[in-house]
Amino acid sequence: MTGFWLTPEQRALRDSVAALCARFDERYWITMDTEHSYPLDFVQALSDAGFLSVLIPEEYGGGGGTISDAAVILETVNRRGGSGLPAHAQMYTMGVILRHGNDEQKARWLPDIAAGKTRLQAFGVTEPDAGSDTTRITTKAELAGDEYVINGQKMWTSRLEHSDLMVLIARTTPYEQVTKKTDGISVFVVDLREAGDAIRYSRIPVLVPHETYSVTITDLRVPKQNLIGEAGKGFRYILSGLNAERILVASEVLGDGYWLVGKAVRYATDRVVFDRPIGANQAVQFPIAQAFAQLEAASLLRNKAAVMFERGENPGFEANATKLLASQATWDAANAAMTAYGGYGMADECGIHRTFRAARLHIVAPVSNNLVLSFIAAHTLGLPRSY
Ligand SMILES: Cc1cc2nc3c(=O)[nH]c(=O)nc-3n(C[C@H](O)[C@H](O)[C@H](O)COP(=O)(O)OP(=O)(O)OC[C@H]3O[C@@H](n4cnc5c(N)ncnc54)[C@H](O)[C@@H]3O)c2cc1C
Repeated sequence: MTGFWLTPEQRALRDSVAALCARFDERYWITMDTEHSYPLDFVQALSDAGFLSVLIPEEYGGGGGTISDAAVILETVNRRGGSGLPAHAQMYTMGVILRHGNDEQKARWLPDIAAGKTRLQAFGVTEPDAGSDTTRITTKAELAGDEYVINGQKMWTSRLEHSDLMVLIARTTPYEQVTKKTDGISVFVVDLREAGDAIRYSRIPVLVPHETYSVTITDLRVPKQNLIGEAGKGFRYILSGLNAERILVASEVLGDGYWLVGKAVRYATDRVVFDRPIGANQAVQFPIAQAFAQLEAASLLRNKAAVMFERGENPGFEANATKLLASQATWDAANAAMTAYGGYGMADECGIHRTFRAARLHIVAPVSNNLVLSFIAAHTLGLPRSY
């Protein structure tokens, strides 16, 4: 977060995150990318330092911090050339348990998640045939005695192999049998350590430095006690966590954008072609300047969204628009950096194309910008719904 906005405590937080990140240099991240490896040491270090439990209340052993604190952590990681992607779900996926779980569930899971003993990194929403229309999921959960039996398929379930628990959504009433299409969806916490062959998965090779899986669920038995809240009301529980997710992912994206601008400025200043630094050419410097201005504007909207969130207001527009603008600004920063680096930008050792590819991901995930625009058009501006 831009310095003037931060409290003295948040400046100290930013500095300690930056000190941790300094132990994982650019070479580390390039190696993780080129070897398609999960940055286990880095995620463990973040967890050990307590940065991933910042949003868990102190009574459950967490940091009791605010969404702004969490944003400071994730933005700093990415500003320092790292990536919050392999770790960030541990920070906020537990929100559904915190907000909608009962006392027994909170006591059962939150202290171990806060201590980093239990990893809750997997969030199974998207399905191959449902896509952005979550109401069309077909994974079904049927009550059989004291258990739910779950069958179906999930797509793009990230970090599954590095998670002990998964928050999973499934239909307890089929789409055809509900009057409101958002009804009939339920949220479960699945213990992956006990799932055995009921969960089979395979890694999807992807453009971005990221681990994500397609998942087949066959007769998975989940105790009734792992249902979160009321059966059939899960869609609204998931929705209630989206503002936090948008603010935090946007913070990482902004971090990427600032990192790219910093790299582009340094290279454009040092690289001399035709007897002058390439950064003296307006075709090189203007896109960098433009992207920086956009990042600053998106960052201010993110700060507003975070403050509204902390006041208990609903920053639906602000959080979504922040994700939209941050992803666009960072995509522009990524292109400006690629232009500045010329051919060298293509080289693995340069380290730029890793973040360039990640910038493209955030135009479509965790929600596509088209769907964000539809949300703003229909919910903020009152235009007719397009779907
Ligand atoms: C690397 C990666 C990691 C992911 N991790 C997770 C995860 O951990 N858990 C999880 O549940 N999901 C995850 N996702 C899924 C992600 O949330 C979805 O990819 C995203 O929401 C878009 O859904 P889709 O890919 O099915 O696109 P679709 O819904 O099939 O849409 C395809 C295109 O059509 C456009 N489109 C669709 N409908 C409309 C419309 N009405 N108006 C205008 N445009 C429209 C979309 O904007 C998009 O550009 C991940 C995805 C990726 C790529």
